[in-house]
Amino acid sequence: MRVALELKDFAKYPFLKESQQFIAAYSQGVEQFINSNPGKVALKYAMERIEGALRSAENTADKDPQAVPSDSFGVKMSVSGYALARVIVSCTKERNVMERLSRYEANRAYRYLIDEEESKKAFIASSVGVVVSGAAIPVTRYIEIVSRLKDERWRLVNRDVDGGYVHVGSLEMDELVREAIRVLVSSQLPLPIPDRICGLISPYTEKISGIYQTYLLEQFGTVEEDCFPPCIQALIAALTDGRNLPHTGRFALTAFLHNIGMDSTQIIELYCRAPDFDIEKTQYQVEHISGRGGTEYTAPSCAAMRTNSLCVRKDDICERINHPLSYYRFRKRREKAPATQTSY
Ligand code: SF4
Repeated sequence: MRVALELKDFAKYPFLKESQQFIAAYSQGVEQFINSNPGKVALKYAMERIEGALRSAENTADKDPQAVPSDSFGVKMSVSGYALARVIVSCTKERNVMERLSRYEANRAYRYLIDEEESKKAFIASSVGVVVSGAAIPVTRYIEIVSRLKDERWRLVNRDVDGGYVHVGSLEMDELVREAIRVLVSSQLPLPIPDRICGLISPYTEKISGIYQTYLLEQFGTVEEDCFPPCIQALIAALTDGRNLPHTGRFALTAFLHNIGMDSTQIIELYCRAPDFDIEKTQYQVEHISGRGGTEYTAPSCAAMRTNSLCVRKDDICERINHPLSYYRFRKRREKAPATQTSY
């Protein structure tokens, strides 16, 4: 499909290969670029993107801090900011930060996409692997795209399927393209960045790690065991009683505690309660799950907990959430404001 992209389209959709080719024409090596004056401008833009991704409550990129430029230098800085943002989040090694940037980029592009004419929409869609036939998508591709979307309307049983194709309305198509962009950006992270480059930008990665920590504290506040969901309380009780936790249980507990902002030392202290406590083994497992190996894990959802027989002693709140982290967030809000309506 041939569509004439305008210069500003590179800034709107920096993940396109055409956008990357545009800045490649100026490329001079990351190290040299970072140390140049334009590189410093691009780093500033990169930080604004990541901070926007971490600070926006719903990660929606409603307010793009950078207006879309239309001149060559401005577009180059904007696309370079996108590229450097991916470098910075890769160096933080925080999977959740990478996920938030991916979602932010997808939402940012979506804001522009919805106002595009159909031919450009179709071009962007096919660039991220959403090949449309009329107003329908092949079932296999549809299933791949919606696999992480929670809304019931995306479930195949709720769709009009005909001849191996799923019919999708125009507005919903934009949403699917947004999800495909998120998956694309996320799948490319972390980038394999050499240690010397990460060292060069360490002031930036440290700032982002600090903001992320603050975000966690704001989101979850101080750790309150009384607000843990029943499944997590049961795992801690089993640990304290000296029972051997299965690997899935240790994983769920450690990931949950890490996700609510406990650091490795605090988590290891909790494992000290177990009579078979082995500090080296525990330290290795906790640091691995917390992201030292480059992959940071998210606590399993209620569905995964059920599959692993770890969903126990459900209470009334459990009927209204689908993730132990949502349970914890809800309980903490409710403890703070018992008389007000509490949302998830
Ligand atoms: S429903 Fe979810 S939060 Fe509640 S006990 Fe089961 S896994 Fe835990």
